[in-house]
Amino acid sequence: MNLVMFDMDGTLTDTFALDENCYVLAIEQTLGLTAVVTEWETYTHASSSFCLEEIVRRARGQSPTAAESRAVQSRMIELMEDVYHRHGRATAEIAGASACIEALQRAGHAVSIASGDWEATARHKLTSARIPFHLLPAAFCEASHIRTEIMRTSLARAASHHGRERFERIVYIGDGAWDVRACREIGWPLIGVGRDAHAHRLRTLGTSHVIPDFTELDAFIAALDQARVPAGQG
Ligand SMILES: [Mg+2]
Repeated sequence: MNLVMFDMDGTLTDTFALDENCYVLAIEQTLGLTAVVTEWETYTHASSSFCLEEIVRRARGQSPTAAESRAVQSRMIELMEDVYHRHGRATAEIAGASACIEALQRAGHAVSIASGDWEATARHKLTSARIPFHLLPAAFCEASHIRTEIMRTSLARAASHHGRERFERIVYIGDGAWDVRACREIGWPLIGVGRDAHAHRLRTLGTSHVIPDFTELDAFIAALDQARVPAGQG
């Protein structure tokens, strides 16, 4: 049995701008901070929890409390709801993502999610995007700040879910530069998700196969067999 593991933001859900705004606004409104640095690649780990820690440490010299983190998550969900009610904009799927997950399961593949988002905000986005995630093994940033650790946790949960010690082949599907680095480090093949300049960047970073979305299912299935561990240096 093969395991196909998906990142969420920008891979299954097309949330980046909406998301980032709600994330930053939630931090500013809940904790009274301003001038949040939104160049996420400059953070050591691109998880919601680590970026919050770093933002609060830079501003106050100490970490946020668990209660503050929970308050930020709740506020972020309220803001996403608010955007929906006022502007009719909600987290959408990357085209074909739901159908792709269902097709993979029908074909006998294991599917799991490994996301740097918090579980609560991730579940809100996956629900909005109508991704059929309820029965999928998943790991979020509560497992670790470190992407490869979130991926390993998702793998362990998928193995347990399917009653297996291991999978014949694991392929990760992601859209971030940090996904390329994580796959190189952990030694898993990667399929990148992106268009135009973003796709070009993923290829430049060493991604062997990049797809714009999941509408060409045959191309995606072929890429699953052919994708390689990202080449090159970090
Ligand atoms: Mg992503």
